[in-house]
Amino acid sequence: MRHTKIVATLGPASLNRETIAAMIRAGMDVARLNTGHGTTEEHMRSAALVRDVAAQAGKPVAVLLDLGGPKLRTGPTDGGRPLDLAAGSTVTLTPRLVKGSSSLLTVGYPHLTEDVAPGDQVLLDDGRIELQVERPTADGIECRVVVGGLLGPNKGVNFPHSSLTAPALTDHDREAVRAGVECGVDFFALSFVSQAADITEARDLVSSLGSDTPIIAKIERRRAIQNLEAILAEADGAMVARGDLGVEMAPEDVPLEQRRIIAGAADQMIPVITATQMLESMIDSPRPTRAEASDVANAVWDLSDALMLSGETAVGRYPVEAVAMMDRIIRRAESVAPPDRAPLARPETDDHSHVVAIAARRIVESDPNMQAVVCHTLSGYTAFLLSKVHPEAPIYAITPNEAVCRRLSLARSVVPMLGPLVTTSEGLLRTADALLMNAGHVRWGEEVVVVASHPVTSGSTNFLKLHRVGEGASA
Ligand code: PEP
Repeated sequence: MRHTKIVATLGPASLNRETIAAMIRAGMDVARLNTGHGTTEEHMRSAALVRDVAAQAGKPVAVLLDLGGPKLRTGPTDGGRPLDLAAGSTVTLTPRLVKGSSSLLTVGYPHLTEDVAPGDQVLLDDGRIELQVERPTADGIECRVVVGGLLGPNKGVNFPHSSLTAPALTDHDREAVRAGVECGVDFFALSFVSQAADITEARDLVSSLGSDTPIIAKIERRRAIQNLEAILAEADGAMVARGDLGVEMAPEDVPLEQRRIIAGAADQMIPVITATQMLESMIDSPRPTRAEASDVANAVWDLSDALMLSGETAVGRYPVEAVAMMDRIIRRAESVAPPDRAPLARPETDDHSHVVAIAARRIVESDPNMQAVVCHTLSGYTAFLLSKVHPEAPIYAITPNEAVCRRLSLARSVVPMLGPLVTTSEGLLRTADALLMNAGHVRWGEEVVVVASHPVTSGSTNFLKLHRVGEGASA
């Protein structure tokens, strides 16, 4: 089995039944819809399409709705023509909507003069152009061009050192959350998170709609790095969003921050996705570069739960091949160099679910006959926990809840399986045997560790049995 999961972004290159089916066959575990492009109605139609194709394929595939957040952009230019911003010249950034020129540009942020101070850096178009703020004016902020270049319309803007006060959820995001809850998407990802309160705000909205959809914090701002621990303590998952992170931080800092975010997610026992430019050259080429193959393998060895494809599958020429290539690189990385598993985050704990998860890892570590961990889970909590203690074996997670089954597609080493709600200890073993043998995951006589909560309750695992498959309750 492949332990590390694959998240693939859907877009014009892949949003059709045949390509989605082929991507699922190639290994896509989670389909990402990016609300930074397209309308909410289109995303809801896409989510329904993924559901339908996944049901036909008989594989649980989660839908992750990525909320665009307060992404800042420049405004239009005359006739869409690029503007020449020459090094040493001055340009004023204004929140007013103007047809941009080399001396006056729209930046869609209403608090420019309040939140940005003289001396602050401004990066345009993925950091290709650099400005420095000189002074506030009646119209906005006057800046000097430090690194010049040609600037097209609607390009991204970053203020890496400023404390922007824009709320993390825009009106567009709120509309997307309402629609996403209604159509039952499996995860929300929140862009441009700065602080833990941003996650709380999103969670409050999701709860007010009667839902518990997990929220993934995209770590892509310098301020998010400063508030990392508190953000990860509040979020249900994290994404190393290297696209914008690589603009806000120096390139040499990105690999370090990637490791820090993955370690921080391990401390909080939440899943983490490493994202962006993983196989970027496959947007135009059927083969990745050597550096990209190494990047994917290293993200596996860093113990990412999942790796993400963005432009490769959304707008690239080879969406299915990109998923298949990622699947091959991951499998190879997992087969030849088992990663140094993270030390147990909480080796001492009186939380019974943790105690059981740690015990399962230790049993698998010390008994070479143990083939797998089998977990009965209502909320998915125990399966995510088991995933984060990294037993060196597959984790078969049986749940009666279809939404939980899909969510578990994101958890490293977890094979989600839909099964009945079981209330007796004999039933826990018999059901595990039947489901796993039917699916060909284990054979009669093999040994597994079965964990569950018994009697059934959500989030409190207290049952652990060393079990020989086929011997049922009498083992
Ligand atoms: C990123 O910045 O790396 C990212 C994943 O976000 P987006 O694709 O929305 O820019």
